[in-house]
Amino acid sequence: MSYKRVVMSSGHGKHVRGASGILDEVDEARRVVERVATELRNRAVEVTTYHDDVSRSQNENLNRIVDFHNSKQRDLDVSVHFNAYEQVSKPMGTEVLYVTQSGLAAQVSSAIAAAGGFINRGAKKRTDLFFLNNTAMPSILIEVCFVDSEADAYLYDGNFEAICDAIADVLGGVEEGEITPSPPQPDAALHVVGKVSYFGGPDDKGVSASEGLAFISKVDEKPELFLPYQPEGTTGLARRLNPHIHYVACRWDYNKTPKLMMLQQVALVRAPSTGIEMKAFPADWGPNQNTGRVADISPGLMEDLGIQTDDEVEVIFPY
Ligand SMILES: [Zn+2]
Repeated sequence: MSYKRVVMSSGHGKHVRGASGILDEVDEARRVVERVATELRNRAVEVTTYHDDVSRSQNENLNRIVDFHNSKQRDLDVSVHFNAYEQVSKPMGTEVLYVTQSGLAAQVSSAIAAAGGFINRGAKKRTDLFFLNNTAMPSILIEVCFVDSEADAYLYDGNFEAICDAIADVLGGVEEGEITPSPPQPDAALHVVGKVSYFGGPDDKGVSASEGLAFISKVDEKPELFLPYQPEGTTGLARRLNPHIHYVACRWDYNKTPKLMMLQQVALVRAPSTGIEMKAFPADWGPNQNTGRVADISPGLMEDLGIQTDDEVEVIFPY
């Protein structure tokens, strides 16, 4: 789907502060709104943004924001917030609240989760929120991540641009049915088509707690791939992989795809059955030939491609 005119506002206000922990909700919501607006304008979407610098009470703030939205011509209303629970080190995740827009909310939530490496808490119906109940156009309320989760704050800081870009892709981007097949890649060092499975992350009991990766021996070599902490009871890098990040393992020929090339470039992973294609970081060598599969991918990539174990993928590297 693609919206022509969008009004976006940040939650709360200059004098009516929201949640704060490691991140400050009002400051970060304003940054996200402005960055997404820029990305949407690059996609030819007309965007108006609003931040409340005036209100002195919560009631005044809610009414002022909604009045602003309702005063504009638009197809969609978006409110950006950050969630809060209690100070924790573990990841908490992203969610998108809605009253009527369940499909859009689910898409935005999964796009933010994939881009940020967050847990995808998904779309949540909420009938008690002033913004969703009183804006006249279709609306969603984004809770980017938790301000008081160390893991979320780390992922948010590291992936800010990708997160905003992902939101803009959903609101201003291409319909699924319009995704064109990948062009032929005559220069690809690796190009395989076949069955796929998944691997890596704290919950992958298929690999031992101490199992490493074939060509990455330290987190520092490719920090984007890993969780900010070593999962409890494990020592190996395979279990420390962030399952929400897009990564892929193939039986690489190191003569054609040297280690440095794999650390610096990305692969394209395409699911012919859904028509969805996404970029992924090379992370390991595998799967064993006797599995009959050509690639192992992250659980998050599997979910975002809309496929399951032993479905078919096409992997092209470099892309
Ligand atoms: Zn809020």
